[in-house]
Amino acid sequence: MQQYEVIVVGAGPAGYVCAIRCAQLGLKVACIDKRVDTRGKPKLGGTCLNVGCIPSKALLDSTHHVQFINEQAGTHGLKVSGLEVDVPAMQKRKDHVVRTLVGGVASLLKKNKVDVISGTAGFIAPQKIRVDHAGGASQDLQGKHIVIASGSEPVDIQAAPVDGDCIVDSTGALEFHEVPLRLGIIGAGVIGLEMGSVWSRLGSEVVILEALPEFLAMADQAVSKEAFKILVKQGLDIRLNCKVQEARTSSDKVQVVYSTGNTEQSLEVDKLIVAVGRRPHTEGLNLDDLGIKTDQKGFIEVDSHWETSVKGVYAIGDVIGGAMLAHKGSEEGVALAELLADQSAHVSYESIPWVIYTWPEIAWAGRTERQCKESGIDYRTGVFPFMALGRAHAMGHAEGMFKIVGDASTDRILGVHILGPNASELISEAVVAMESELYTEDLARMIHAHPSLAEGMHEAALAVGGRAIHF
Ligand code: FAD
Ligand code: NAD
Repeated sequence: MQQYEVIVVGAGPAGYVCAIRCAQLGLKVACIDKRVDTRGKPKLGGTCLNVGCIPSKALLDSTHHVQFINEQAGTHGLKVSGLEVDVPAMQKRKDHVVRTLVGGVASLLKKNKVDVISGTAGFIAPQKIRVDHAGGASQDLQGKHIVIASGSEPVDIQAAPVDGDCIVDSTGALEFHEVPLRLGIIGAGVIGLEMGSVWSRLGSEVVILEALPEFLAMADQAVSKEAFKILVKQGLDIRLNCKVQEARTSSDKVQVVYSTGNTEQSLEVDKLIVAVGRRPHTEGLNLDDLGIKTDQKGFIEVDSHWETSVKGVYAIGDVIGGAMLAHKGSEEGVALAELLADQSAHVSYESIPWVIYTWPEIAWAGRTERQCKESGIDYRTGVFPFMALGRAHAMGHAEGMFKIVGDASTDRILGVHILGPNASELISEAVVAMESELYTEDLARMIHAHPSLAEGMHEAALAVGGRAIHF
């Protein structure tokens, strides 16, 4: 039986990063993944590269150009006529981006001498894994440490069963080869807003049905309120407080019956996307036989060193819950590898950046104003609008705001919230500042280039002390 110091199950951003770091630290490591392409070739990179972060951003970037041409080119003095959108070509480009990056992960694993094994892994004992290969053969491996990084999959709801044709999950929503005339989406979360933006920019009439009465409850309220207005103005019809009762398909149309309060309503769409969250992917691992504890939702329980209830078995990434984000899983992968190599390691969960890639983008790190209020923290806020930034006007993207939440007594930065162009990049400054335990006064005194969008961070920090210059 092949012996390893570390066996990683799953080659998503948590698993492959953990495997590479283990190898860098001199550990003999195998990484197993079951995802293959139509020709049976391994497709590494997990949800993120194949059906998540990367393909969604490729489509968001392509359609952002369409949005520019339709809504803004004229104001720049650019006359564009006869614009044609070739959706299959757009999809081909997306697939090429995915293929390139999937190939990149394979090269990185090879370069680091990680043994990549294609097949479905399941425990046969705490330190033994059986891998079932696609052709029917199987192989047993023994590992001193086993890391479960098996990720997550879309949650389905009984009221709207996914058929992969008219009713799809996030994977199907990335694959439309023509623009649906009318598109329904269940769930106004991250996927609902990103996929809704993609297809709305291409001309779909998009209706999003959200169960909660509040829009984007996890973001800062000032940002979510403003984002709601902007996205509705862009054409997303976001309906809150909706309970979907039934979605039925007939003659290539989906009838969705839902209620708001006591009123029953119905909606006819050509495609329906179900985007109501993700659940841990643990099928076939035999966790119960081994006694690996999971919580009520099926997420694997781990201690502060990512060890499960069974000694020598660890879990990282989406399968343990928390922020279900690629960069969170990767950081856990690095930290765990370092612990397995007898080093010390830590993941700063408090300052994980969140980004929603609508336009304008929504990004935040740290606490919201409401969280501070609920925890009884005495805080101050500084808000600065993009409208007051020269660079934002030059770009033609002056919507949104920066908001910094600072501790009123210590002046430490507690949270930063950005709604605006390039918020996904701008939020990194906030992470660096919070991780370096900076004060809002530090940001207020650091020189930011002019003209740049980052000046908004500087001005928001000044605004915490009531002394913004340009607003
Ligand atoms: P996964 O990426 O899910 O990888 C797990 C791997 O394990 C899979 O490849 C699977 O095949 C394999 N596996 C599972 N069970 C077994 C088994 N028994 N044997 C062998 N292999 C197995 N996050 C962001 O940070 N930014 C984004 O912009 C973003 N956009 C997203 C867009 C969409 C549409 C979706 C769906 C998700 C998005 N995410 C984004 C979330 C991100 O994709 C996940 O947080 C991330 O992929 C989780 O990484 P992971 O390694 O834990 O699991
Ligand atoms: P989500 O948790 O972001 O949003 C799901 C939404 O659906 C919520 O607003 C929820 O209230 C609503 N909902 C739940 N049940 C419902 C029902 N029956 N009817 C109507 N609404 C309902 O989940 P998601 O959008 O599916 O995305 C899953 C996860 O994937 C995200 O939480 C995130 O971790 C990750 N992701 C990240 C990015 C990014 O980082 N840009 C992009 C996509 C996905």
